Amino acid sequence: MEKKHNHRRSIDTMVIHDGYDSKQFQGSLTPPLYQTSTFTFETAEQGERRFAGDEDGYIYSRLGNPTVKVLEERIAQLENGEAALAFGSGMAAVSAVLIALTKANDHIICSQGIYGCTFGLLSMMKEKYNIHTDFTSMETEEQIRSLIKPETALIYVETPINPTMKLIDLELVVKVAKEYDIPVVVDNTFSSPYLQQPLNIGCDIVIHSATKYIGGHGDVIAGLVVGPMDFLDEVSMTTQKDVGGIISPFDAWLLLRGLKTLPVRLDRHCSNAKKITEKLKEHPMVSKVYYPGDPDHADYPIMKKQMKQGGGLVSFEIKGDKRDAQQFLNSLSFISIAVSLGDAETLIQHPATMTHAVVPEESRLKMGITDQLIRLSVGLESWEDIWKDLKQALDQLAKMQNPAY
Ligand SMILES: *Cc1c(COP(=O)(O)O)cnc(C)c1O
Repeated sequence: MEKKHNHRRSIDTMVIHDGYDSKQFQGSLTPPLYQTSTFTFETAEQGERRFAGDEDGYIYSRLGNPTVKVLEERIAQLENGEAALAFGSGMAAVSAVLIALTKANDHIICSQGIYGCTFGLLSMMKEKYNIHTDFTSMETEEQIRSLIKPETALIYVETPINPTMKLIDLELVVKVAKEYDIPVVVDNTFSSPYLQQPLNIGCDIVIHSATKYIGGHGDVIAGLVVGPMDFLDEVSMTTQKDVGGIISPFDAWLLLRGLKTLPVRLDRHCSNAKKITEKLKEHPMVSKVYYPGDPDHADYPIMKKQMKQGGGLVSFEIKGDKRDAQQFLNSLSFISIAVSLGDAETLIQHPATMTHAVVPEESRLKMGITDQLIRLSVGLESWEDIWKDLKQALDQLAKMQNPAY
């Protein structure tokens, strides 16, 4: 771990410089790519010392790699954590953390509405290891407190919640968790460390799907975990080393490149999302708009408290049914129909039949995921062009439903 700076620099500077010292790499301005599976030892004795942990140095890239190390040190600094680990996907990161924190018959408290595959993993853990999960909206301390059991191993939170953009008050969750000494794990994918830093609020572990805003260019699948050094040492020696969902050095290199522009990109994502929200709210074919940066959003006060800005995702309901929603998506011109988020390109998807198709209809509707709900990952294009594309598709829909429009 690089020594912590006494004076924390601005995050705009940290994304470019932290965790890397060019003097240690022959003056290379950007971190070199160590695209190697293994590392040679000068002597057999050196190999012995490395394996025994008596000498620092690399052994084999599943156990550590210099390019990956720069990424891990940088993200640790950005989230203000002691240490970090990189993984081959967001789900490799989520599973490494959940497996490391639990044993058979344990209990988990989880926010209602989480990433579909995390839900799938929790279901698998219940079936295989009898680890039960209680889902709660976490709106009050009492809601959380009433679920705590002696075997509660962790509280798992996603905020903003996909795709309805509800927020969870992290300060409130931390307050209850601390009373019982239960670790709080936050999936911070939707905000990135630029918009929200859960460790500064008192949460214990942060997870990212780096596939999204951290990479930012739609060319990498990767995951990151930030937290206490002793916990991450344990993860690195167990679920990372022995389960093996590690990141490739090239993907780590791409993430370091993407990270440099994180604040610049996020500022644009957020200001574009805000503009698109205002426009959507005025269109007669749109019945609901969910954006945490919108003062009319129910959780706007929580956004003001724990996030820098509202993020780049906007969900909205159109008037009509599932067919109309699909027709609307098909009428778009440059906006791409795709899941994933946080890319330069504006992406749009239909949660009911795509990201949340596996959720039974009843729970889906309870979560607010109707057939008319659309999720938009607002990209970096001109907001006027994004709006033009959305508007022409909405207008087509209006004409279809009412030829006099
Ligand atoms: C995409 C995503 C994940 C999973 O990450 P992958 O990189 O696709 O494995 C986990 N949580 C959230 C909130 C996500 O959006």
